[in-house]
Amino acid sequence: MAKAAVLFETNAPLEIRDDVEVADPAPGEVRVRTGASGVCHSDLSVANGTIPLPSPIVLGHEGAGIVEAVGEGVTNVAPGDKVVVSWVPQCGECYMCNHGQPYLCEKNAMAAMAGLLDGTTRLSSQGTALHQMGMAGSFSDTMIIPEISAVKVDADIPLDVAALIGCGVLTGVGAAINTAAIQEGDTVAVIGCGGVGLNVIQGARIAGASEIIAIDMMANKLELAEQFGATTLVKADESDPVMAAMANGRGADVAFEVIGLGATMEQAINMVRPGGEVVLVGVPRMDVFLNLNAAFTFLYMAKTVKGCWYGSADVRRDVPRLLAHYRAGDLKLDELISRRIELEDVNEAFSAMEAGEVARSVINYGIE
Ligand SMILES: [Zn+2]
Ligand SMILES: [Zn+2]
Repeated sequence: MAKAAVLFETNAPLEIRDDVEVADPAPGEVRVRTGASGVCHSDLSVANGTIPLPSPIVLGHEGAGIVEAVGEGVTNVAPGDKVVVSWVPQCGECYMCNHGQPYLCEKNAMAAMAGLLDGTTRLSSQGTALHQMGMAGSFSDTMIIPEISAVKVDADIPLDVAALIGCGVLTGVGAAINTAAIQEGDTVAVIGCGGVGLNVIQGARIAGASEIIAIDMMANKLELAEQFGATTLVKADESDPVMAAMANGRGADVAFEVIGLGATMEQAINMVRPGGEVVLVGVPRMDVFLNLNAAFTFLYMAKTVKGCWYGSADVRRDVPRLLAHYRAGDLKLDELISRRIELEDVNEAFSAMEAGEVARSVINYGIE
């Protein structure tokens, strides 16, 4: 029996179940003993209905652990391997994988976001099937995931650090180093300095930005932003972020929106210079539409607005690349972890996140 935190209905607290049955891995699947799971804002977004997924569901998609068993035909990983969960399985064979966009791998149909590749699930409690967020469900001490979701990492990488790579770091750093085309010396603006925003900031620093304007309403998040590389801090309820970005007389070269609100997306588009680039990273509700002046934005100012899914990551290229930056000391990962908690504390972690208190709470399952 496994133990898991389960969402039974939207806006209800997660329930801890210790009677979760785990089916054997099917062909092409692996069983992972979960070592750590970040509590990501997208988990909260499923719990509060912003991201509509079916329930009951085991949340958690930012995980890492140790492979315990493998199904038929699995060759990528073996029992004992330490792995990061990629919540976007990347098959390496489909049209998108062969066109340099494996983050849009065609095996990752939205319909399967709450189950495994065939849409079904391997977890159940009291006879009821439990969906698995991101084809994982890292709020369970045991997961069955597709082989193509498991990315092997070196044995000396701590599991909590490895877990963070799987969502917030790949998404945020990836947005800066993959999605955007930041050039040496650029001015970059980042709206929203939560777990992902901090990673955009450190990604922009790694990409060579010389000025990084961090924008948020919370003073504690701006303080963190400075530690991660921001050079100018703008408290959005006290001064106008667009004016702050225009202080150089031109606007930012690249702006990132990492909240998911229409108003801040429009701000991001308005604060870049002519010819500038905007990357939209935040997760909007399904009913968000933008109000833009098409002529000025796209014709006279020739701005580029880019969508960003999973940091445009190629996980088999990027996970080792990010860990090399971590080993070299220029990617801060330990510093992202503000609280280490147990599975039972997950609802409190949601409350802390709603209050804007923390960069990242990480659930520790007590294995090394
Ligand atoms: Zn593919
Ligand atoms: Zn996430």
